[in-house]
Amino acid sequence: MSWNPVTGCLHSCSYCWARRLALTRLKRHPHYSVHGFNPALNEKAFIRKFKPGQWVFVCDMGDLWGSWVPEEWINRVLDHIAKFPQTNFFFLTKNPSRYSEFLIKVPAEVELGVTVETNRDEGYERVSKAPKPGERLERMAELDWPRKVVVIEPILDFDLEEFVKKLRDINPSEVYVGYDNYGNRLPEPTISKTRELVEMLGSFTRVHAKSLRPAWYEI
Ligand code: SF4
Repeated sequence: MSWNPVTGCLHSCSYCWARRLALTRLKRHPHYSVHGFNPALNEKAFIRKFKPGQWVFVCDMGDLWGSWVPEEWINRVLDHIAKFPQTNFFFLTKNPSRYSEFLIKVPAEVELGVTVETNRDEGYERVSKAPKPGERLERMAELDWPRKVVVIEPILDFDLEEFVKKLRDINPSEVYVGYDNYGNRLPEPTISKTRELVEMLGSFTRVHAKSLRPAWYEI
């Protein structure tokens, strides 16, 4: 399940489904009708309680760790999840440099994730204003945390050897790989190249290959 105590995002990814959802299907929702996809604290979310053993994706409708998010909002989220030590919480960001500021408050069982669609920085600004993939990979490698997760989704074309090396340096417990599901015609790798990546990653981590398909230009 997902829990969204903070919503909205300024990374402006061209393929963002959350923004589309907030501005279309959810536009009459009490929270999104006021805030749209601008960063906002969702006060009502803090009444939510979680059960032992539940798996909770925190903030799939934004980036809690974006540089624009006030410290106070992040502390509110961390204080709330600390009340449920038997629930499995998962964070995902495109700005992992922010994790280190709060590491001391993050419960030990939490999974800290990064989305990194490619290792290539060149031309990335055409897809997103988030910190460049190279920076994200480095920050995650430096992060001293036992449960690191990498999400390569939606996958963009990459340099095989270099990408695998950088991912190995992170030492992730799990890696998710998947293609864009929304017909955005992104600069995707061929399916054979992606399969090679999945195989190489499988030699040192657990890989979940979710929505593998030929690149749009291969069909
Ligand atoms: S980081 Fe996620 S939420 Fe933010 S714009 Fe990109 S896809 Fe949307």
